[in-house]
Amino acid sequence: MKKLLILGSTGSIGINTLDVIRKHSEKFSVSALTINTRIDLLIPQIHEFKPELVVVVNEIAAEKLRHTDGIKCEVLSGVEGLIYNAANCDYDILLGAMVGFAGLLPTIEAVKRGKRIALANKETLVVAGELITKLSKDYNAEIIPVDSEHSAIYQCLIGERIEEVEKLILTASGGPFLNKSKKDLDNVTIEEALSHPNWKMGNKITIDSASLMNKGLEVIEAHWLFNFPKEKIDVVIHPQSIIHSLVEFVDGSVKAQLGIPDMRLPIQYALSFPERVKNDFPKIDFRLTRELTFNKPDLNKFKCLQLAYDTLATGGTAPCILNAANEVAVDKFLKGDISFTYIPTIINKALDRIENHRSPDLETIIECDKITRRFAENLI
Ligand code: NAD
Ligand code: MG
Repeated sequence: MKKLLILGSTGSIGINTLDVIRKHSEKFSVSALTINTRIDLLIPQIHEFKPELVVVVNEIAAEKLRHTDGIKCEVLSGVEGLIYNAANCDYDILLGAMVGFAGLLPTIEAVKRGKRIALANKETLVVAGELITKLSKDYNAEIIPVDSEHSAIYQCLIGERIEEVEKLILTASGGPFLNKSKKDLDNVTIEEALSHPNWKMGNKITIDSASLMNKGLEVIEAHWLFNFPKEKIDVVIHPQSIIHSLVEFVDGSVKAQLGIPDMRLPIQYALSFPERVKNDFPKIDFRLTRELTFNKPDLNKFKCLQLAYDTLATGGTAPCILNAANEVAVDKFLKGDISFTYIPTIINKALDRIENHRSPDLETIIECDKITRRFAENLI
C-alpha cells in the first residue's frame, strides 16, 4: 500500500488523482490533502479518503473547516502548514498538483526526504530546474512526470540508451486559437481562451495552452527532466491530442505513446511505475477512422513559446522571470484587465528589466519571483 500526500486535491489533477486512488484502493491510500480555499470541495474528500492531516492555506477557510461538524483530522493552515506537512507527514509519494510557483517549497521538502515526486506542477521545474534536479540526485528522490507529454517521453525512453536519442518531440494541441490569424488574437475573449478543444483543466493552464506558453513551460520541463539541450527538444502541433509525445532515435526510428486525452492515465503511471495496472478507463478504438495530423507551431503568432525557448538559452533565473511574469499576466487577463496579446508583452518587459542570476539558490529564486511579480503587477 502506497501512501499519498496530494498538493492541490481540489483542482483538476487532484480530483483525477483521487479517482485513480478510488479505483485502486488496494494499492493507494491518502495520508494528507492540501488546498488553497475550496473547503466545500475538500469536505467530501476528507469523508471519503480519511486523511490524517489536511492543509488549507487560506486562514479563514481553515478556521471554518476546524469548526465543521464531523471533521476529525488535523487541520493546518498557511504556507507554513504546507511546508510542515511535506516535511513531517507519513507518506510515500507526493503528488504535486498545485498550480504555479507556490508548489515549489513543499516539493523541495519532499525531495529532501527522498520521496517519489509524481509531478504535475511543471512551474516547479521551470523556476528551479537546476536546483531540484541536483537535490533529487543528492537525496535519491525519483521525479516521475504526470504531464502527459513527459509521461509519454518517459515511457518511450525506457530500455533505451540516452546517447542514441536524436530528439524529443512534444506534441501540442494548438489550443482554441490554432486557426485564428495573428491579428484576430488581439480581440479574443476570456471565454474563448478558456474553451480548450480537448482537455478540461484549471484556468491557468487553460490560458497557457491558448497562448502556447504551456508548451514553452513544457520544453523547459523536458530539458530538466531528461537532461536534453533545447536544440534537441521540438514541438509539433497535433490537434487530436492522441499522440502524447514522441522520441526520435539516431537511426531515424521514432517511438510514440498514444492514448485518449485522460489525465488519469499518466497520473496512474506515475503512482504505479514500474508496474502497469489494469483499469477501466476508456481506450482508443483504432477501427474507428481517426485523423492524426501534424503541423509546425507558428512562433510569430504564439510569442510565448519563443520566449520560453529564449529563456532556456539564457539560463539562470530567466525561466523564473518568465514564469512569474506569466502568472501575473494570466491573472490580469482572467480579470479582464489586459488583452490576450498583452501577455507576452508583459513577460518581455520583465525579461528586459530584471537582473539574471546564474545557478540560483533557493533564496535567489524566491527573491527573483517576488521582484518579477511586483514589476509585472505595476505594468498596465
Ligand atoms: P487547478 O487550478 O484546477 O487546481 C489547483 C490546485 O492547487 C487546487 O487544489 C488549489 O486549491 C491549489 N492551489 C492553487 N494555488 C494554491 C496556493 N497558492 N497554495 C496552495 N494551494 C494552491 O489546476 P490544475 O489544472 O489541476 O493544474 C495543477 C498543475 O498541474 C499545474 O501546474 C498544471 O500546469 C499542471 N498540469 C495540469 C494538467 C491538467 O490536465 N489539469 C495537465 C498537465 C499538467
Ligand atoms: Mg502537458
